[in-house]
Amino acid sequence: MSGYFSVMEKQGFEELLFGHDASTGLKAVIAIHSTILGPALGGTRMWPYPAEEAAVEDAMRLARGMTYKAAMADRNLGGGKAVILGDPCRHKSERLLRAYGRFVDKLGGRYITAEDMGIGEKDLDWVRQETAHVLGDSSQGSPSPFTAYGVWRGIKASARAALGSDSLRGLTVAVQGLGNVGGKLCAYLAREGARLIVADLDPEKVKEAVSRWPAKAVAPEEIYAQECDIFAPCAAGGVINEKTLPQLKCRIVAGSANNVLQDRAWGAELMKRGILYAPDYVINAGGLIYVDSMRLGLKDPAEIRRVVGRIEDRLAQIFKRSAAESLPPEAVADLMAEERLQSGAKAATSETQA
Ligand code: NAD
Repeated sequence: MSGYFSVMEKQGFEELLFGHDASTGLKAVIAIHSTILGPALGGTRMWPYPAEEAAVEDAMRLARGMTYKAAMADRNLGGGKAVILGDPCRHKSERLLRAYGRFVDKLGGRYITAEDMGIGEKDLDWVRQETAHVLGDSSQGSPSPFTAYGVWRGIKASARAALGSDSLRGLTVAVQGLGNVGGKLCAYLAREGARLIVADLDPEKVKEAVSRWPAKAVAPEEIYAQECDIFAPCAAGGVINEKTLPQLKCRIVAGSANNVLQDRAWGAELMKRGILYAPDYVINAGGLIYVDSMRLGLKDPAEIRRVVGRIEDRLAQIFKRSAAESLPPEAVADLMAEERLQSGAKAATSETQA
């Protein structure tokens, strides 16, 4: 990454903060991309980065993504993200997490943290000892069921746009990853009468899926080439790439994984091949909506599901505009998010002037 200020200027970042605590060895970076629409929300990732630059780059990339995700989910939230440099298996401790909590607290609520890779609910309980600006600790529960619900509704919107009906009965869905989100998504799909093809690196999860639902198991590397209507990536990012794209035999790619497209160019390539892509940060926003509802004190699960269900309408809008303007859906999502940010900026300015 070239100079941090030039990236901040080009991408509209507000703040980049470095936190160090000598007594615990804490080294953390908080990137606040935007607070135009509200406080910057985004999880904390703990990872043994090979270099400090890689940590900063990850925090900035993820923070910017959160701005777009919150804007498209219609939340009054901005985008931020934090990383703690270190191995979560060896370097995590109560003292370190509490030192990190004090770092978050100094920002006075401009940044609200949550979980991400290497940081779970229990860790956030320690962070909460030092700051109120944390969501998703063990008292609030997992956002995954709401993410899965949103993905299911997003798949229905995708089916309507690509196949002419939102009914999934009789369609074949290939689900990659049977974890917190993928497992729950399978339950929704099976309940609606979809046929499942499943893959996971963990054989126990595959065994369980096959015993619970009418599902065919395939080896992880075989999932891309399956004859199916919908490919639902619910594991790692970057799965649509040079190697996997020529294998696809589906009409739709729609799942929970973040950063599904290894490179933006693959989105245009999917469109060229007549495969509809549901932009990741739009379809997987159910968890964000859940944690934001907790922030606002709205705890009724039925009401939260109703709001998450709007993902279906939002995707329908994106697909319509994508067809009308011959732009890939992820480019349309970016445009719509930017439009909201711009109008949000105007509202904030007029409020300040009032
Ligand atoms: P998880 O860790 O619970 O599950 C991921 C599963 O994928 C695991 O069972 C793992 O064994 C499997 N897996 C990993 N690589 C695989 C491969 N190559 N082939 C097949 N299976 C593989 O994670 P999760 O919480 O279910 O999240 C899944 C994806 O959705 C992630 O990309 C995550 O960033 C994204 N996401 C999750 C949420 C949420 O609320 N949990 C919200 C937004 C986005």
